[in-house]
Amino acid sequence: MKKYIPIALLLIFAWAGSAHAQSNITVTRNEAQVDFPQSVTFQLELADASDVASVSLVYEVDKLSCLDANTAVPVPLNGNQAEWTWEMVRSGNPPPGATLRWHWQITDHQGNMTTTEEQSHTFVDDRFDWQTVTAPNIRLHWYEGENVGPILLDAAVAGLDQLQNEMGITLDSEVQLFIYGESDDMRDAVLYIQNWAGGVAFSDYNIILIGVPPRIAESWGVPTVRHELAHLVIGEFGRSCVGGSRPTWLDEGLAVYAEGEPKPIDPR
Ligand SMILES: [Zn+2]
Repeated sequence: MKKYIPIALLLIFAWAGSAHAQSNITVTRNEAQVDFPQSVTFQLELADASDVASVSLVYEVDKLSCLDANTAVPVPLNGNQAEWTWEMVRSGNPPPGATLRWHWQITDHQGNMTTTEEQSHTFVDDRFDWQTVTAPNIRLHWYEGENVGPILLDAAVAGLDQLQNEMGITLDSEVQLFIYGESDDMRDAVLYIQNWAGGVAFSDYNIILIGVPPRIAESWGVPTVRHELAHLVIGEFGRSCVGGSRPTWLDEGLAVYAEGEPKPIDPR
């Protein structure tokens, strides 16, 4: 028994030490209420806010970006609580599958700043019961039609292989595909996107959304997955932080090429 005592003492001192360094601010609640894709309400509650001079919320959504994209918002304290709502309806929302991270900065009257532990939330379109299939660097989510997921995962794998073998373009980080049962379901998940071509690639997030009714999974879903995946991979490959972009016709041409073997034209 005896040999455990020093360890126990050490733990107590370590705990006391960190509590001291953090000044005397105790967070009793640090949450985000997510109403996807409309809004996120961040809520902070402190045990005692009498020594607090100001509070700021810092949040960002993980994306491949050249700029440090986090946003710091000063939030007024109301008693010992602070609350701020990010209206995604106004800014446009990140796609499902994207991850939101946030922390609070709490400054006391002596100018000492306490930073809360980072919290995170992955946006989910919870109107549907998603299933997931995976391959290296690919996660594909779908909810309608038993074989739709496996068929489209095969298409994604074949598409990536072709991009790699014929164009030497590889995907650096994992891509997620969300396959909706129809385009209308998909449209409701993303605000402010127009001119749908049935699917959309969010290259900054490595996320693709496509509406694929199960009956046309093979005939239309397969080439469309390869097409949108090509947009994303080519976009990632050509990403440049000094500006400039590829001409649209080149991007589109490569994506069409990546759909695979041309299908015979239906004579009807
Ligand atoms: Zn295209």
